[in-house]
Amino acid sequence: MDSLSKLSISHLMEEGTGTIENFSFDEPMKFDGIKTKSNVRGKLEIMKIDEGVNAKFEDVEVKVEFECEKCLKGFTEKISVEAEERQFLSEAPEKTEDPNDLFIIDMKHYQIDLTEPLRQEIILHFPSIRVCSSGCLGICQVCGKDRNKTKCECKEQPSNANKPLAKLKSLIKN
Ligand SMILES: [Zn+2]
Ligand SMILES: [Zn+2]
Repeated sequence: MDSLSKLSISHLMEEGTGTIENFSFDEPMKFDGIKTKSNVRGKLEIMKIDEGVNAKFEDVEVKVEFECEKCLKGFTEKISVEAEERQFLSEAPEKTEDPNDLFIIDMKHYQIDLTEPLRQEIILHFPSIRVCSSGCLGICQVCGKDRNKTKCECKEQPSNANKPLAKLKSLIKN
């Protein structure tokens, strides 16, 4: 099949509403703000609708590099998108609620660019907690050493939560 950024739908545009074409893809893709570490794989169903086409992704998988929130080391995690769909319109509507949700068919070449819808879905499926492992010890708040590699002698700093209480105690004493 063609690249997902220039998917030809010229054949489908001649067909009636409800006509479906199925694709599977496995290709390297670049997205703004995402460090991909593998090809993007998945299935795609394009259906002709009155206003243009409906693009449905299924079983999308890609490996993405993240930075551990605790130790700041890079780690790779597989992102999976089960099923999502987006519509591509043959012409821009007069009013749009959210321009980020608006996708228009390139009517000159009868192509659609699936990069942005895919980018949005991949980001929506990012892990909520980004740590390299559940046992990551993180970086020492005092000396800045990676505690996964070096055991430092620093004592835990008193947390800020205790400070107001200490102040209150001294006020009571006075
Ligand atoms: Zn870590
Ligand atoms: Zn330390």
